[in-house]
Amino acid sequence: MESCDLLIEGGTVVDGSGAPSFAAGVAISGDRLRILRPGAERPAAGRTIDAAGKVVAPGFIDLHSHSGLVILAEPRHEPKVRQGVTTEIIGVDGLSYAPLPSRADLAALIEMNAGLDGAPDVAADWDTVAEYLDRFDSKVAVNVGLMVGNSALRISRLGWEDVPADAAALADMRVMLDAAMAAGALGLSSGLDYPPGAFATTAELAALTQAAARRGGFYHTHVRYPLGDRFLDPFREAIDIGRRSGGAVHLTHFYHRATYPGTPEQQLTLVDDARAEGLDVTFDSYPYEWASTRLLIQMPTWMQAGGPRPLKERLADRSARERVRAELRERGGAAYTSAAGWSDVRLGALRRPENMRWEGRSLADVMAERGVDAVDAICDLLLSEDLRPNQVTSGPIKSTMAPFLRHPAGMVATDSTFVGAKPSPRTYGSYPRVLGEFVRQDHWLGLEEAVRRMTLAPATRLGLSDRGRLADGYLADVVVFDPATVRSNATYEEPRRFPTGIEQVIVNGTLVVQKGAHTGALPGRVVRR
Ligand SMILES: [Zn+2]
Repeated sequence: MESCDLLIEGGTVVDGSGAPSFAAGVAISGDRLRILRPGAERPAAGRTIDAAGKVVAPGFIDLHSHSGLVILAEPRHEPKVRQGVTTEIIGVDGLSYAPLPSRADLAALIEMNAGLDGAPDVAADWDTVAEYLDRFDSKVAVNVGLMVGNSALRISRLGWEDVPADAAALADMRVMLDAAMAAGALGLSSGLDYPPGAFATTAELAALTQAAARRGGFYHTHVRYPLGDRFLDPFREAIDIGRRSGGAVHLTHFYHRATYPGTPEQQLTLVDDARAEGLDVTFDSYPYEWASTRLLIQMPTWMQAGGPRPLKERLADRSARERVRAELRERGGAAYTSAAGWSDVRLGALRRPENMRWEGRSLADVMAERGVDAVDAICDLLLSEDLRPNQVTSGPIKSTMAPFLRHPAGMVATDSTFVGAKPSPRTYGSYPRVLGEFVRQDHWLGLEEAVRRMTLAPATRLGLSDRGRLADGYLADVVVFDPATVRSNATYEEPRRFPTGIEQVIVNGTLVVQKGAHTGALPGRVVRR
């Protein structure tokens, strides 16, 4: 008689495709699954999970995670796997830790980006994309996919300065990208607020996207938010990169800001128009009100040219601060905040004893208590904390999240960050919040459609043909959750709380979460196209 290693019996299968749910068993042998319809013969199972009353779905695929270093230090990756994530994408926002030309550049990128990705105590001693990916394969709890950051490509060919890419440099960057994709990367990412990638022109990004597309890759972009009208123009540039290159474009953390001069519908119309034109444009959104990135984002890009050493010299320089002051006046103060400005910038990841009292408090508090302006407060903090501070600011408001989540090209991602005492609650609660609050309580969309946006839709975007769906022969990345109780417990005040109702999580056929607790297993692999 046939046998299997693990049998999930009695549950309702939501298969990830958006099709209506159905009653079935799921049999797992090794790392693959098959569906057992009612009446089908039951194999002898090494272990059986009773899923009566539960939903059995593909594991969630997160298109935006800042775990490219953190997961190497904390391979159990509890914040993510406990919410049902089985695969996540790193190297986002243009900031991948490979390919880079030297260990010194790797160390410099880690230093520069510590406010976003942290600088955990891991041996950063890889030299190639293949060696970097090898750090994850079968050594961490979830599957990991890599985007090649355009900052890494620029550092490799042009250094850290604000210089144009001539034809020869562009050709070389295309060759590097091609090699990285041959080694397993899934496409190109950009983060056009973050130097040196922010120094890339539209034409440069289109040329790189074209090279990625030739290998089946796509363009994953944190857009150039300060561009043009600072509302639609940044997204128009991204779509234009798709038009010029013929490559697919994915707008990451796409949402409506309360400070925008227009509506969410205007943003989504851009996507609809592009798709009607025949362009392959998709997006993800995170379902929480709190954004987060490195505090360094408040500094103009010219301050950051050249890398961490010149940056620190400028941070300490009075005339450079004076120039920043003038520019901030022009810009109207804090960037990426609510109208509350500097009081909306909450500080995190502080380590120096004299700064610890500011953890979780606002930059406005620092300014008031120290009697300094924003420029001095930021520059002093960045210097004394070795560039590591993080900021949490207002993000999407709930009333404008629904049209993004309901849009057919929309997907759910987390943009999870792991540093600081109070990271955005999106890090621990994104998927359970959608399932518990937006689906069960608010009825924004059906369960099957919500799960599709977490599973098959991102798998398809990534070009993964054997993940993201519960169907015969697919890899066994599975989450079992209770549709009646699933919910996020993460809040702004208490962001590091695990969700309720995520009962089992299986990665490549191995139980990583059982009865809501981590088993310690580390079966994650590198996902490749
Ligand atoms: Zn971003």
